[in-house]
Amino acid sequence: MVENPLWDYFWRGVKQNSSMYISYCKGCVAVELQKTGATASTLTQDTAAFKAACQAVGNTRGEKHAWIAHILGGKTPCPNASAEARAEATLQKTGSSSGSSQKRQRTESTPADASEPPPKKHSRR
Ligand SMILES: [Zn+2]
Repeated sequence: MVENPLWDYFWRGVKQNSSMYISYCKGCVAVELQKTGATASTLTQDTAAFKAACQAVGNTRGEKHAWIAHILGGKTPCPNASAEARAEATLQKTGSSSGSSQKRQRTESTPADASEPPPKKHSRR
């Protein structure tokens, strides 16, 4: 199964059930970490500072719709999401996802002209 590219923008938290992880917005966590004096370069999931930042940020369900809601928001889009994260979320929201799970939805003549980011294949764990 191909992982959703939005995982690039979220830290993977603990497994919530057999197939669902909780996740934390990397942008939000980074900002929170900076508040506490930690730098983004200390972003590893093992530090107490990191865990505290995750707590402060709050978790997001580890799935596409929750991420899109977080990044793009209805009224309050995430102010910390990167441009890449927004582009990817927008792409997936408009349904032109190249993701694996939505094979049924054929691209219906929606030429989302958002420039598609080049496929990045480095999976980070
Ligand atoms: Zn965020």
